[in-house]
Amino acid sequence: MKKVYSFNEGNKSMINLLGGKGGNLAEMTKIGLPIPEGIIISTQACKDYYKDGEKISKVLEDEILVKLDELQKQTGKNFGGKNPLLVSVRSGAPISMPGMMDTILNLGLNDKTAQYMIEVFKDSDFVYQSYYRFIQMFSEIVMGIDKEIFFDLKKEMLEKDNYTHQQLIKAGKEKYREITGHDFPEEPKEQLFMAINAIFKSWNNERAKIYRNIHKIDDNLGTAVVVQQMVFGNLNEKSGTGVAFTRDPSSGENHIFGEYLLKAQGEDIVAGIRTPEPIEKLKEQLPDVYIEFSKLAKKLEQHNKDMQDIEFTIENGKLYLLQTRNGKRSPYAAVKIAVDMVEEGLLTKEEAIMKVDASTLPQLLHGNFKQEAIEKAVLLGKGLPGSAGVAIGRVMFSAERADIRAMTILVREETSPEDIKGISLAQGIVTVKGGVTSHGAVVARGMGKCCVTGCAAIKINDIKREMYIGGYTVKEGDFISISGYTGEIYLGKVELSAPQFDKNLKKFVKWCQDIKRLKVRMNADTPADAKLGKSFGAEGIGLCRTEHMFFQKDKIWTIRQMILSNEPKEVKAALEKMHQMQKEDFKNIFTVVEEGTVIVRLLDPPLHEFLPKEAKDKQKMAEILGVSLEEIERRIVNLKDENPMLGHRGCRLAVTRPELYNMQARAIIEAAIECIKNGCTKLLPEIMLPLIIGAKELQFIKRNIEGEIKRVLQENNINIEYKIGTMMETPRACLLADEIARDVDFFSFGTNDLTQTTMGLSRDDSVKFMTEYYENGILKVEPFATIDERGVGKLVKLATELGRRTKPELEIGICGEHGGDPQSIDFFESVKLDYVSCSPFRVLVAIVAAAQAKLKAYKGIDYKWI
Ligand code: ADP
Ligand code: MG
Ligand code: MG
Repeated sequence: MKKVYSFNEGNKSMINLLGGKGGNLAEMTKIGLPIPEGIIISTQACKDYYKDGEKISKVLEDEILVKLDELQKQTGKNFGGKNPLLVSVRSGAPISMPGMMDTILNLGLNDKTAQYMIEVFKDSDFVYQSYYRFIQMFSEIVMGIDKEIFFDLKKEMLEKDNYTHQQLIKAGKEKYREITGHDFPEEPKEQLFMAINAIFKSWNNERAKIYRNIHKIDDNLGTAVVVQQMVFGNLNEKSGTGVAFTRDPSSGENHIFGEYLLKAQGEDIVAGIRTPEPIEKLKEQLPDVYIEFSKLAKKLEQHNKDMQDIEFTIENGKLYLLQTRNGKRSPYAAVKIAVDMVEEGLLTKEEAIMKVDASTLPQLLHGNFKQEAIEKAVLLGKGLPGSAGVAIGRVMFSAERADIRAMTILVREETSPEDIKGISLAQGIVTVKGGVTSHGAVVARGMGKCCVTGCAAIKINDIKREMYIGGYTVKEGDFISISGYTGEIYLGKVELSAPQFDKNLKKFVKWCQDIKRLKVRMNADTPADAKLGKSFGAEGIGLCRTEHMFFQKDKIWTIRQMILSNEPKEVKAALEKMHQMQKEDFKNIFTVVEEGTVIVRLLDPPLHEFLPKEAKDKQKMAEILGVSLEEIERRIVNLKDENPMLGHRGCRLAVTRPELYNMQARAIIEAAIECIKNGCTKLLPEIMLPLIIGAKELQFIKRNIEGEIKRVLQENNINIEYKIGTMMETPRACLLADEIARDVDFFSFGTNDLTQTTMGLSRDDSVKFMTEYYENGILKVEPFATIDERGVGKLVKLATELGRRTKPELEIGICGEHGGDPQSIDFFESVKLDYVSCSPFRVLVAIVAAAQAKLKAYKGIDYKWI
């Protein structure tokens, strides 16, 4: 198999083999752009390199030499001879990993070719500068010698009275021998093979490995190597080097954006020794080159149908392009560019939809800190990015005190369901313990609040009401600013940039809505949530949790009474009170949704979670029930589960206490009847049972609540449409889905619990060991954020097929955290679920991801960031 290609033998579709850099250089050559000639050694050769014990084979060397001969003929120059051919040796993987691997410039120089270069260019300063740079880069990249050593050496030499270029070169090579124990290689072919070996080796350097791990790039892709004729940006004042985007990557505006340096080589721009000029200035300095560049940039953008990030070099007034790729951009620019390109006729709507990274969209709704402000701010510490967004507020250590002052940031060791109210009032949340799927983060994401979790550097002193972090003492009431994008915590108020939900975004989302197949519903427990999700385009509610309703105001005391009383009469009275409260809650939510589906899940957590924890609350409970404090404590202990996740919860509650679910079913149907009578005629209430493990259990509960619903309908002398369905959260339910389907109208996969029960991992405890799972490559993705397709996904697929075999019209969806995750949505599309449901702030993400998933699955339209 062929392993070495000339630029004119390749094209863009061969990127897996030629790397992004090589494939695009070949493509640019094909369409006639000014590209210095070159050859590409394929990624397959890199794989062979690792198979052959980390060295390139003789066979490959020979193949390279044949192509090198061709290159000499094409360029009319000689590698190692008169009229010398110098080359760059560049790395380029199929997926770009900026700054992770290496490039060597000016290879082919030695004492002899340097003389020949001087004959050609008549400028020894230029030649020796290039030569020294080559020695420096070669030493760094091939031998791992710190480049600072060569900078220092140069400084030292320049200070000498009788300084000559030749001496500097000699000193450089001596340094090389001193450190490596070998002579600097003079023979250009030896230089070349050593460089190629080094680039292949750099595929597995530490930073590249870490980068691939973070970005989930396959370790087996390998890198290609580009060997390309040098052009010299450092030749004279009519030469230079630069980088430019075809559109502004931050605002998306349609104009060239970039910078350049005259009399400089590639590395100088990034090295930061000289400050580059904005590209507009090139218009004055080299107007012809500027016009030419603008023309070629447009052409490249048209050809690749995307905003381009271009590297170029000018040699003595002549422009060369050295690299192009699809440019990285802000979420705001991504949407604007996609919409603009459709309007310019460059893209179809379908192509444009693929070009926005759905997961970045929430940033457009939350805004962010201004970059200049961040640079000036005091960074106190860093936790994990729990929920996107930024917040500024006064530190508050207690959820109860969070509402005393507006603009608070709740800082807690960890959060619990009792903190809900405090969280809902706070601007943002910080926790000392817990990972990105901990309670605080999940709730914060659900509410679209910014959250930083797991900031272990914080020490809270509850008594003094202050915390210690990053050498500072922050008192309750002091301002901090937190970023849920980065996990960073700053002292004081950091200035914000404006949120940007504009006409482009609206237009873009509309296109996605028209194209997608999956319905997108929201997880909403309150009228405010429902209103928000609806404004983002949610089609009804896929999960309305009833437990949070009881934490509001005084309701908690009613449910506590219902749970803890031993007097049947008292229990009944409490239930009746709960019934009235629930009915009111449901009416309020139904009224906001107005039409379509509202899926209400009946009570799910263990009853123990509702009970008082603090002594004064227990005392109050004892007084309410007229029993002793000891008796209350005894009853609380009795209700405690050894293992709450697998304990007395979900529909288990309805098997032991049927009156609970009956009361909730009654409240739902009564509320629906009233709303329908008030004009919401298209409302469809759906009742959902949590944590079912089998058909018999389901039948038992369903008989009870259906009896209750019949009574309600008779009492009101009306017939309304409603549905009863089940969550699928246990492996057993999935395995028996064909039996279960007979008795229900819908399935909703609760993928949070299904992941826990399938993997046998508790979400909250897993933060203690998951890091090691990722670091050691045991798991690639976070199973509580992205569905574990191979395991949990297999159950989802199986249950879907079994359920539909029994009942083809069965409605099937998902309502876990995964409902707002683009990669998981791809999977849910592939198994043909009917809907996904996610928190209101993820609705936009889900709409866009659902459209993308459909385009990938049915139209074969995909997109790759190169
Ligand atoms: P990276 O992947 O880090 O961007 P590159 O291989 O693109 O590394 O090389 C960095 C820079 O080196 C290029 O942007 C260009 O300015 C310069 N360079 C690379 N090859 C050549 C060449 N053949 N002629 C002139 N300059 C080059
Ligand atoms: Mg580059
Ligand atoms: Mg559950």
